[in-house]
Amino acid sequence: MTAFVTRNTAFLAMSLIVPVTFALVAGRYEQRIMTLAGIYAIAVLGYQLIFGRLGGLSLAQGCFFGLGAYATGLLSIASGWSFPVTFLASIVLPMGLAALVAIPVLRLDSHYFALATLGIAQVVLLTAVNWTSVTGGANGLYGVPPIRYPGGDTLSPKAMLLLVWGILAVAAAAVTWLFRGRTAYRLTLLREAPEAAASSAIDLGARRLALFVGSAGLGGAAGALQAHSIGVVSPAVTEFQVMVTILAMTVIGGRGHPAGAILGAVLLVHLPEWFRFLETNYLIAYGAALLAAVILMPEGIAGLVTSWFRRGERWQPVSTIPGNPPPSRPAGALRLDGLTKRFGGVAALDGVSLAIAPGEIIGLIGPNGSGKSTLINIASGLLHKDAGAIHLGSRDIGRATPQRIAKLGLGRTFQTPTCPVGLSVFATVLAATSDRLDEAAAQVHARFCLDRVGLSPVQDRSAGDLAPAESRRLDLARALAGTPTVLLLDEPAAGLTPGERDDLARLLREVAASGTGLLIVDHTMDFLLPMADRVVCLAAGVIVAEGLPADVVRNQTAIAAFFGTASG
Ligand code: ADP
Ligand code: MG
Repeated sequence: MTAFVTRNTAFLAMSLIVPVTFALVAGRYEQRIMTLAGIYAIAVLGYQLIFGRLGGLSLAQGCFFGLGAYATGLLSIASGWSFPVTFLASIVLPMGLAALVAIPVLRLDSHYFALATLGIAQVVLLTAVNWTSVTGGANGLYGVPPIRYPGGDTLSPKAMLLLVWGILAVAAAAVTWLFRGRTAYRLTLLREAPEAAASSAIDLGARRLALFVGSAGLGGAAGALQAHSIGVVSPAVTEFQVMVTILAMTVIGGRGHPAGAILGAVLLVHLPEWFRFLETNYLIAYGAALLAAVILMPEGIAGLVTSWFRRGERWQPVSTIPGNPPPSRPAGALRLDGLTKRFGGVAALDGVSLAIAPGEIIGLIGPNGSGKSTLINIASGLLHKDAGAIHLGSRDIGRATPQRIAKLGLGRTFQTPTCPVGLSVFATVLAATSDRLDEAAAQVHARFCLDRVGLSPVQDRSAGDLAPAESRRLDLARALAGTPTVLLLDEPAAGLTPGERDDLARLLREVAASGTGLLIVDHTMDFLLPMADRVVCLAAGVIVAEGLPADVVRNQTAIAAFFGTASG
């Protein structure tokens, strides 16, 4: 792991140092081009926060860039304030706009989010064009002064290059520092497996806001530097072309690594130069090159490089160290009273009451469509009940969010788990560990959970590459990582071999013996019955039989429900 971190840092450092050194050697013209690349890299770095980390296709980054440019243009022409002041204002203004629209916009799902951010960008563009008295309308603002030293001298192209890349380096270092370790993994889990993340108490509402506002701030900073660098601000800076350029740079460079922002910007700023000999066919070649890059490198250039670093990497070079179980917390019983849930005309649950005591194992059986998964989805807060009450210990959790319920100690697995492609098996489990554990303790605990489900040998593989049976075990490790006091398992043994089922049964008995109450949904009776303290049989949303395993399997109503034949 340390080697991986070191290589990543070295990669970022090289991506900063090499272009600057090249430009310093190559002369003035190249210095101006590389300054432009640095400016775009700052905007792309911001865009990575929203597009890369959150997975949101925002189309407002170009507009934040334009706002920064206009703020700098207006303030430095009209007020004559010094660069640090106008620069700060050009960062704060787009951040303010982002904060203002964040609450309605961040709630929207992907396509609507894209449309809403496009709408914001259009409003800003129209304002820039039509508010002629302030913005100069279609002509824009001329004579934006270059940046000066405190003494009054103008920055040389070389000094401007160093200033821009210095700001870029600080921003890249800050982003790297803010999103190290578990925070980054949690964001990835939230992006790629939102239900699993919610059921692991991952609640990043405040972080999402910070990411959106932060992306706007970096966009504004880039726009401000651009205004000083070219001396004019026209409505073109808020036009869609800027957004498309930023998007292309992010995709080509790689959306998940700060170095990707730099590589994407450096490459795309130089591409027109390199293709100049093609003259009028230039756009065709440019488009074809972009298309090829997107198809051949879905994670961009930085993605290729980091996956190459990761090859052969081990989190723990020596054999895995089984960690200590975390401090247990007071066990709480789960009680469901009269749960009812309808989907249109179908009553998926109809007055179901059930209690799970600490350390108890309840087997929940019933034919397909009888409401077993619905029951787990409601108890874990992913679905809302129509009627009834849910208590965890003494707390009423009937209206709580999935994150809150998970935080209070209810864990769950999924009938069809989603495993994040962007995370290793280990990182997936680490993301789900509790905030009460610090990073070191969390790593030990994550390793312990992986060891328990037998996934230690594949802990460095991408979680998305696991076979279905393995992904069930990973989902169980993820749920165990939150040290639940009640754990609801939706068909955990599906697809396992008899030997694997025995291992799983042994593990679940151990978990129950430590005081956790278990509800296990399964169809495999020789797996479920020997370990269950009680069995509950559901049919068409109603409990039709309940009691000791031996009694329930002999119960005629239960048999009839299960095999779909009339009893008697
Ligand atoms: P089980 O897990 O026991 O197989 P489910 O809880 O998945 O059953 O489903 C119970 C009933 O509710 C089924 O009739 C199913 O079609 C219906 N159902 C479940 N989820 C939804 C949903 N999101 N929308 C509409 N109907 C649903
Ligand atoms: Mg089900």
